[in-house]
Amino acid sequence: MKAASCIVSFIGFNRQCSAFLDRYHWNQYRLLIVLAVLPCIFAWKQVSSLPNGLLYLASWLLVANLGLTIGYHRYYAHKQFLASNFFKIILAFAASMSWQGSLNSWALQHRIHHSLSDQQGDPHSPRDFSNSQKPVSFKSFYHAHYGWMSHVGQQIRAGEKGMISSGRNLAYVNRLSKILGNNNRYLDFDGQYKYAHPYILDLVQNPLERCMSDFYALFSLLSVILVVGVSIFVAFIQSGSFDDQLILANVISAIYWGVIVRSVLTQEMSNITNSLGHAFGYRNFETKDCSKNNILIGLLTLGEGFQNNHHYNSMSINFSRRWYEIDLASYFLKILFLTPLAKPIQKQSY
Ligand SMILES: [Zn+2]
Ligand SMILES: [Zn+2]
Repeated sequence: MKAASCIVSFIGFNRQCSAFLDRYHWNQYRLLIVLAVLPCIFAWKQVSSLPNGLLYLASWLLVANLGLTIGYHRYYAHKQFLASNFFKIILAFAASMSWQGSLNSWALQHRIHHSLSDQQGDPHSPRDFSNSQKPVSFKSFYHAHYGWMSHVGQQIRAGEKGMISSGRNLAYVNRLSKILGNNNRYLDFDGQYKYAHPYILDLVQNPLERCMSDFYALFSLLSVILVVGVSIFVAFIQSGSFDDQLILANVISAIYWGVIVRSVLTQEMSNITNSLGHAFGYRNFETKDCSKNNILIGLLTLGEGFQNNHHYNSMSINFSRRWYEIDLASYFLKILFLTPLAKPIQKQSY
C-alpha cells in the first residue's frame, strides 16, 4: 500500500515538473538559442574543434526528429498505427528529447491545429486574419514561426490548459464537452476522477499514455544523461582507454552539439513546418486550409513538409503522394511494421 502511494506521489511530482516545462516552453527555447549562438560567435574555434561534433549533431537530430514525427505526431496526435506498449515508451522518450512540451500539450495543440486549420483559433497559422488583401503578412508569419510559442505559454498561464492535468477550469471543460458531446472524465492514478480537454481524452484515459505525458520532464532529463553516456562510450571506443581529457571533450561536445544545437534545429524544423508549410509551396489537393507541400522542407523534416498531403488525409502514415516527394519517416514505419513494435491499423495505400 505504501509502495502504491509512493508511485502515485512520484507520478504526481513528475506531472508538476512537466506542467512547469510546458508553461515556460518559449523561455526554454530562447535560452537554448542563446546557449547555441553565443559560443558560435565568441568561441567558434573551440566549439568547431570539439571531437565528434557532427556525429553527435546528425545522429541525435535523426533520433529526435523521428521521435517527433513518428511519436508525437503520427502516433500520439493522430493514432495512425498501432504501437506496442514498449514502443509507446520509446516514442515518448525520443520525442521528449526536443523540449517541445509534454505529449498531452503537444497533441492537444496539434489536434486544435487540424480542426481549425488556418481559421481563427489555429494555434500557429501564418494567415493574417485582419487583412483580406494580404493573406500572409510579416506579423502573421512571425506568429506562425515563433509567436505561437509564447501564445501557448500565455494560454497555459491563464489556466486554459491547466485542466489537462489538474482538473481545474471545469467551467471551460464542461462548456467544451457540452458542445462536443463528450464525457471528458478520467480516473487518475490517485483514484480521483479528473477532467481533460475532450480532444485528448483518449490519451488521458489510457494509463500508460497518461504516464508518458507525466514523465515528459523526467524523459527530457534522462535523454541528456543518455547523450552524455553515449559520448563517454564513444570516447572509450575511439581511444581504447579511459582518457580523462578526451572523455571531457566528448561530453562537452555531446552537450553542445547533441543537445543544445540539435534541440534548436529540431524546433526550427517544426517551426518551419508550421509557418512555411502553410504559406509557400504547391498543392496536390484542394483543402479548406492553406496547407502546402514543399520538397526541401519535406526532406529536412523527414516528411513533415508535405502539409497539404497530410491535411488532405491526416490518417495516412505516408505524407508523400508523388514520386519526388520523399517521406523518410514513412520508410522507417514500414520497416517497423515488420517487427512486433508496430502494425498498421488497416491496409493503407502507400
Ligand atoms: Zn498543418
Ligand atoms: Zn498532423
